[in-house]
Amino acid sequence: MSDIPKAYEPKQVEERIYKSWMEGGYFKPKIDPKKKPFTIIMPPPNVTGELHVGHALTATLEDIMIRWHRMLGDPSLWLPGIDHAGIATQVVVEKELAKEGLDRHQVGREKFEERTWAWANKSRSAITHQHERLGASCDWSRERFTLDDGPVKAVKTAFVRLYDKGLIYRGERIINWCPRCRTALSDLEVQSKDLNGNMWHMKYPYADGSGYITVATTRPETYLGDAAVAVNPEDERYNGLIGKKVTLPVINREIPIIADEAIDRAFGTGMVKVTPAHDPVDFEISQRHNLPVIHILNPDASMNDNAGPYAGLDRFEARKKIVEDFEKAGLMEKIEPYSHAIPHCFRCSTVIEPEVSRQWFVKIAPLAAPAIEAVRDGRIQIIPERFTKIYLSWMENIRDWCISRQLWWGHRIPVWYCGECSEMTVSIDTPTKCGKCGSTGLEQDPDVLDTWFSSGLWPHSTLGWPDQTEDLKYFYPTSVMETGYDILFFWVARMIMMGIEDAADVPFRTVYLHGLIRDEKGEKMSKMKGNVLNPLTAIDKFGCDALRFALTTGTAPGNDLNMGQHRLEAGRNFANKLWNAGRFVLKALEAEPITAQAFMETGLKKLEESEDRWIISRLNRLTGEVDTMMKGFQFGEAEKEIHDFLWGEFCDWYIEISKQRLGKANTPMPVLAYVLETSLRLLHPFMPFITEELWQDLRERLPRETLKAPALIIAAYPEVNQKLLDPESEQVMEAVMEVVRTIRNARAEYKVEMGKWVESSVYAGSLQSALKAKAAVIESLARTRPLSILPREQRPANAEKAMVYVLKDADVVIPLAGMVDAGAEKARLTKEMEVLDREINRLSGRLADSQFTSKAPPAVIEKEKGRLNEYQDKFARMKAELQQLA
Ligand SMILES: [Zn+2]
Ligand SMILES: [Zn+2]
Repeated sequence: MSDIPKAYEPKQVEERIYKSWMEGGYFKPKIDPKKKPFTIIMPPPNVTGELHVGHALTATLEDIMIRWHRMLGDPSLWLPGIDHAGIATQVVVEKELAKEGLDRHQVGREKFEERTWAWANKSRSAITHQHERLGASCDWSRERFTLDDGPVKAVKTAFVRLYDKGLIYRGERIINWCPRCRTALSDLEVQSKDLNGNMWHMKYPYADGSGYITVATTRPETYLGDAAVAVNPEDERYNGLIGKKVTLPVINREIPIIADEAIDRAFGTGMVKVTPAHDPVDFEISQRHNLPVIHILNPDASMNDNAGPYAGLDRFEARKKIVEDFEKAGLMEKIEPYSHAIPHCFRCSTVIEPEVSRQWFVKIAPLAAPAIEAVRDGRIQIIPERFTKIYLSWMENIRDWCISRQLWWGHRIPVWYCGECSEMTVSIDTPTKCGKCGSTGLEQDPDVLDTWFSSGLWPHSTLGWPDQTEDLKYFYPTSVMETGYDILFFWVARMIMMGIEDAADVPFRTVYLHGLIRDEKGEKMSKMKGNVLNPLTAIDKFGCDALRFALTTGTAPGNDLNMGQHRLEAGRNFANKLWNAGRFVLKALEAEPITAQAFMETGLKKLEESEDRWIISRLNRLTGEVDTMMKGFQFGEAEKEIHDFLWGEFCDWYIEISKQRLGKANTPMPVLAYVLETSLRLLHPFMPFITEELWQDLRERLPRETLKAPALIIAAYPEVNQKLLDPESEQVMEAVMEVVRTIRNARAEYKVEMGKWVESSVYAGSLQSALKAKAAVIESLARTRPLSILPREQRPANAEKAMVYVLKDADVVIPLAGMVDAGAEKARLTKEMEVLDREINRLSGRLADSQFTSKAPPAVIEKEKGRLNEYQDKFARMKAELQQLA
């Protein structure tokens, strides 16, 4: 066995195997119109850096599905890609510039884009390499980047189509403004954080000098943009005030008191300041009452010229100064601590300002309606099912989507403005002159689109849309969209809307949502906490298959997973266990080659020996269960079952039992080879490297015509043969294993030496003769001799000086004398009891000593009492044991 290393060494295997798959062209599906394809479009990782453990989970789950379908014979396409990640990438490159003391405006748009491209290209190849290390069997020839020509064309086409249908518009609306990123954000890109702030109660004097009113606000600086004070028309307290005017202090601007139904009478004083430019509700009020919209902030959140004496101050400095000025003037009625939700930028955590701004929006309701329908009527199934309700309720309350971003990295909005006549041209191709006045002085909209706009088109844009390509016709709608539940709204919902709109069909049939990966203690992984698991480091240390095993075994869709060292170790241990089993079979096969016929027949007809029928039956049962679980998207459970079979039945029992028959007429060699080969095929989607390696070794040692596929990756996935299910042999072997386990446990309990034989009697019912036939197996595995297997009725009613175990199909009686060397055991017990006795005396004495009990803390006394009880108890049990021996 010089050519098969003793231990499994992933490093020696993974790169070589991956290369062989690439060279075989196995990742590329063959388009066959007679067959239904299986397609997954990979969620494109952000180009901003290294793959994290969440990406590793995504890649593993998708690879499991793709490999499984490939082995089922389906033309299987897994299309990889990378996202340009507009705002995230821009933030990264801006940080790099900042290290050189520069900002993007100093560098200029063109140079900035060049620099970002260079950075992105480098990062892209690193990400591709990382996916290869994870064993991802995706079709690299179809890899896409969101800023490739194809996706760029798709984005422009989608924009123009929606614009022409009136579903994209430009308008002044309240948006979320990040003063650091200096861009608008969609509602989803805002994170709300509960923070302790204040509620300031500010007095506004009546313009006629007859007194004042009080308004309450959490943002006092916005008073500079107030256009009115509003009360509820049904609020009797303020009936007489409507139409009166108040003067804004310091800046001395008069504003009216108005009535509007939107005002909550219970909030603060029931009198609400109206700041149309900086609050969504106030903006709506201003539309109804025709109030001026007064902006008070510059893009960087410093105060603008409308702020009078506060102009130029940062928003928070201005707040401080305004509070001071109101206090000085006696116009601050009170300041109450007030905890409330404050919006933050999801990228940079800066406090967001709601602002009226002219932006591009998607009119979303007409797109949401068919996307709701598609999930309701089951054209799209969401797994796990509980997310369906969450999806529907979000979609039913969806608001128009702000898609313009004041960034430089991304898809530029395909709109041009004429400098002469202010005509707007919305076009896929870059126009050369104005369609209205013929002027060539056109300028493109400086903004780019929200990154999720291009990712929303991903399933159809990657397949060639808007062109009716062969790929689009064959692979669309795709089969499964597998991603984290955290981007259900950001991404999945938008793909459904855009897919139906552009490509006239749902983008995928199934949405499979996986959970988050947390650390061992269940905490979220973050660089700040330093508990991040780097998948590549894990692969270096444990191997790729171990990492994949750790990420998926026993997990359920949608559930979070606590991941740590112990799962990785379990993965590595399993790989080693499998490797050793594989080595054993391969070695045996070299000594005892088998014919192709013997190998094939193992999977076709019932065999002679009951343990052979048992393992083949179990293998078939497993195959059936795995099939059911895979179809139900229970990959983690399927993997666990295969693991349990291989470790708990094949390695621990069948191989051990079969050793006795090697080289004999009833050799188990065909069964060993057959079960190993089939198991490797079952396990391949989960642990692709080690299974391929062992399978290739097996293929070399079996007759040529046995395994026809050139590689495991394209071998057929096992199918259940119902005829080989054998409940009878399963029952017999279960009883055999239970008897052996029982005797082994008893031996362990009494610390019987490995080499020693112990006597036992097995009393069985209907299985008596079957167990008798397996007496040799039981004897050797349990090291029990003499062994008698008798009818259950013959069991003595009270077996003295013996251990009695009552099992499902048999009872086991083990005489104590056989287990224990009475003399030695007596000596051991006596010695230990002497030691215990001394301790008991010492402790009792101490606890009886008032010197001790009066001075020692109660906790110490309790502890000593506990120890005394423990020793006395132990002493009593040993005494009983000693009497048994006598
Ligand atoms: Zn930001
Ligand atoms: Zn013009």
